[in-house]
Amino acid sequence: MTARTKVMKKPLRTLGDQSYLVELVKGLGLTLKHFFKGTQQMVANSYANPAEDPFAEGIATLEYPEVKRAYPERWRGVHRLTHREDGSPRCVACLCCSTACPAQCIYIKPAEYPAGDKRRGYERFPEEFVIDELRCIFCGYCVEACPCDAIRMDTGMHMTALDNRASFIFDKEKLMSIPSQHGEFKSENPRHEPGDPSHPGIDRLRGH
Ligand code: SF4
Ligand code: SF4
Repeated sequence: MTARTKVMKKPLRTLGDQSYLVELVKGLGLTLKHFFKGTQQMVANSYANPAEDPFAEGIATLEYPEVKRAYPERWRGVHRLTHREDGSPRCVACLCCSTACPAQCIYIKPAEYPAGDKRRGYERFPEEFVIDELRCIFCGYCVEACPCDAIRMDTGMHMTALDNRASFIFDKEKLMSIPSQHGEFKSENPRHEPGDPSHPGIDRLRGH
């Protein structure tokens, strides 16, 4: 059986094709069309109400940081340490977060509450709590590992570009000074303090 061969005609390259001028003008036209459309929508929507999400109207850019995009509730921003009712950290220095952290960027120095404090013997507190936000990979494992809802990434804050290494090291005071993106320092999850009738009453020093 003889194989049949189909000879294809070589496409002709015209002068227009070879100069790329026509395609160049077409591309620039498309760019200008989107530029003016986006600018018109930005003026009509974003300036009138900066709180509105300009992305909703198909605009790909916004005037950050004056205009910010509304982040989803589960978006992971820089960390915060949540507060108890008395303003102290909810953290009990259990080290679950620092153990779970794959980047090993959390340092915690646990300490005992002073004698007479009803929390002594039941739980500890972080004398030091440091996160290296430059080393962090924002995986959220620390938040997942925490049994006390003491660490969160719901701040809605980017880690901004800074010009010195030390500014990326967030200590306990800094972590406790950052609110959630809704302005909250506490957590809506209930917490049973030692001594409360609802507290299970497990005493760490005596083992039960
Ligand atoms: S988000 Fe991930 S990398 Fe960052 S501190 Fe938490 S566990 Fe570590
Ligand atoms: S933040 Fe949570 S997981 Fe980390 S040490 Fe404190 S209580 Fe434990």
